[in-house]
Amino acid sequence: MFEYAPAPESRSIVAIEPTYGLFIDGSFVEGKGTFKTVNPASEEVLAEVAMAAPEDVDRAVAAARRAFGPWSALPGAERAKYLFRIARIIQERSRELAVLESLDNGKPIKESRDVDLPLVAAHFFYYAGWADKLAYAGFGPDPKPLGVAGQVIPWNFPLLMLAWKIAPALAAGNTVVLKPAETTPLSALFFADVCRQADLPAGVVNIITGAGDTGRYLVEHPEVDKVAFTGSTEVGRQIARSVAGTGKRLTLELGGKAANIVFDDAPIDQAVEGIVNGIFFNQGHVCCAGSRLLVQESIAEPLLDSLKRRMATLRVGDPLDKNTDIGAINSRAQLEKITELSEIGSSEGAERWSPPCSLPDRGFWFAPTIFTGVTQAHRIAREEIFGPVLSVLTFRTPDEAIEKANNTPYGLSAGIWTEKGSRILAVADKLRAGVVWANTFNKFDPTSPFGGYKESGYGREGGRHGLEAYLA
Ligand code: NDP
Repeated sequence: MFEYAPAPESRSIVAIEPTYGLFIDGSFVEGKGTFKTVNPASEEVLAEVAMAAPEDVDRAVAAARRAFGPWSALPGAERAKYLFRIARIIQERSRELAVLESLDNGKPIKESRDVDLPLVAAHFFYYAGWADKLAYAGFGPDPKPLGVAGQVIPWNFPLLMLAWKIAPALAAGNTVVLKPAETTPLSALFFADVCRQADLPAGVVNIITGAGDTGRYLVEHPEVDKVAFTGSTEVGRQIARSVAGTGKRLTLELGGKAANIVFDDAPIDQAVEGIVNGIFFNQGHVCCAGSRLLVQESIAEPLLDSLKRRMATLRVGDPLDKNTDIGAINSRAQLEKITELSEIGSSEGAERWSPPCSLPDRGFWFAPTIFTGVTQAHRIAREEIFGPVLSVLTFRTPDEAIEKANNTPYGLSAGIWTEKGSRILAVADKLRAGVVWANTFNKFDPTSPFGGYKESGYGREGGRHGLEAYLA
């Protein structure tokens, strides 16, 4: 096999400040304490970021409350202008943002550049288009915004999750206080600067950085009218409990354990690409990752041979190298979780395989891994690993595939690989998953609603449905 010469994107494309404050009421202000955010590929400290204390959250929510009246009173077409402006600035500054996202998150530059950033801009463009058409969205002739939205997002798609939350909220006339994840605050702070550049009125978007407690304080704040959360099922449950009975509106996007089902008539090479994309995209830090491969027994052997050959070509390493397929694991804590669950997989009797690959000495890394001989009782078949680890199970009949696919407390996404359209429709109909991809995987579009069943949460983001969560 030939070697690739390094093709590094320059990190000097983006200027990172040594310290960042909280973005409240249109200005950066100091918080009480600070924390460090590191590059997970090198463990180098990138910046010191303010830690929002409860009084800072109060200030941010008060700013959003003050801004709500004038913002919601603007004609939709005027709000749309701001959203279009934000979308265009994101496009203009997308190279800076892509480098920043890869530095702070660890994801390969080709993903931040070609997937995250185009989708972020597309979300703002899409919801800008709705801002003056809310009366035609199917929620009554005169739908009203809810007020102040408290939004808490995870570290796997920091800027994209911000776009999913902020774009529909603003289009519908709400104002926002958003808390990014502790390990990935930088692109949200960059976005604060984009808001300033777009002349967005002060207080319409507030960004408060901090840890879980900051998030908890935000979602429990009595002046917050709407809570939107993406993250773990465990924290989602806590939030649902704390919001219950308060009258706040709530949407939760939580974990998943998606089945990617390959039937014996599927085109194997395409299916292998879909399996690789399904579990190794973004290091498997994807709530809708195809983390359980269900393969029809009669083709399991050739399919796994092809999959292993393909995995041996995956390049793991420097996220800023344009050749890299798999970047760094986002944090030491996440690496420990992936390592622990993988060890449990081996000790429970599943067979572990990774291609030979050398991992960098510093930073957080995990080789792409598959487990075969997995049964439904294994923890690696039941729990969200949130890393580049695939559990392979087999089935004999479509009914067995459907039963196994649905045998999970989650219900976020699923994939079907088959040549027969009728089988796609019949199986998709019986899968208890919010999103079902057929002969593809991990495809996203702002026009398409996304969300889950059961422990994967409730509410939909994206599309016309995504507006519903921000309108009364
Ligand atoms: P969390 O659910 O803890 O984090 C998501 C966001 O919520 C972060 O901004 C976090 O802040 C914040 N948060 C934490 N505790 C609270 C709270 N009590 N109230 C309000 N907000 C809170 O996910 P983790 O980052 O801890 O990851 C743990 C596991 O969750 C992962 O291993 C993965 O399995 C799963 N996960 C799933 C995601 C998905 O999209 N399905 C996304 C992220 C994680 P902070 O970062 O500062 O702790």
